[in-house]
Amino acid sequence: MIATHLEVPVQSVRDPLPGRLIDAAAEAIANNADLLGELDRAIGDGDHGVNMLRGFAAIAGQRNELVGLPLAAALEAMGRQLVMTVGGASGPLYGSLLIAMGKAAALEDASVAAILEAGVAAVKKRGKSDRGEKTMLDVLVPVQSAWAQSCQEGLTVRPALARVRQAAREGFESTRPLMATKGRASFLRERSIGHLDPGACSSCLLVDAVCAVFLEDEP
Ligand code: ADP
Ligand code: MG
Repeated sequence: MIATHLEVPVQSVRDPLPGRLIDAAAEAIANNADLLGELDRAIGDGDHGVNMLRGFAAIAGQRNELVGLPLAAALEAMGRQLVMTVGGASGPLYGSLLIAMGKAAALEDASVAAILEAGVAAVKKRGKSDRGEKTMLDVLVPVQSAWAQSCQEGLTVRPALARVRQAAREGFESTRPLMATKGRASFLRERSIGHLDPGACSSCLLVDAVCAVFLEDEP
């Protein structure tokens, strides 16, 4: 093998954050596409796994262009990609989330709290829905609150991210006893009770993956 001049082991050269976030999100969806499909087969039409897989494969395919963009533009571009490729109800909803986050990130002095707030508000508006209806909002709303609360309490990043992850997991679990009142699962009415919501699952997976990447950079 040819010796290189560079003494830094390759593994210790970290990719910049945007690339790692894209990889982690795409991997979380790819590793759990079957689970998402299974959950959607129980209370929907079974396509949530393949829908999300298609969307995140499209984002991964644009990785090189996306990592070159400023955060605001990258978020918007990913959102548009999801609207175009995911389909179903979740495509426009996840698309609205990221596009609104991108627009908020473009404002001067944008905080993470303000970016999250704008994203969640856009999902509520697009879905005409709110927490408690057995959807992705049962994860996204508590995640946003957990971050806002952590900021108010002056927590450092590590405990704040731990709280956000916990909020995501609890939010996902909270969908089980709920009766769906929005989306396809609402057609089942009482029969939707006792099942976990697939969109809440994908939201939980994505939040968890993103938090894990941010934690890698924390001492
Ligand atoms: P479809 O229901 O069109 O087949 P998907 O299966 O990809 O689309 O996505 C279903 C998920 O979308 C649900 O599990 C739920 O979390 C989310 N969802 C559906 N309708 C709404 C809504 N009005 N507001 C928020 N989330 C919704
Ligand atoms: Mg579906």
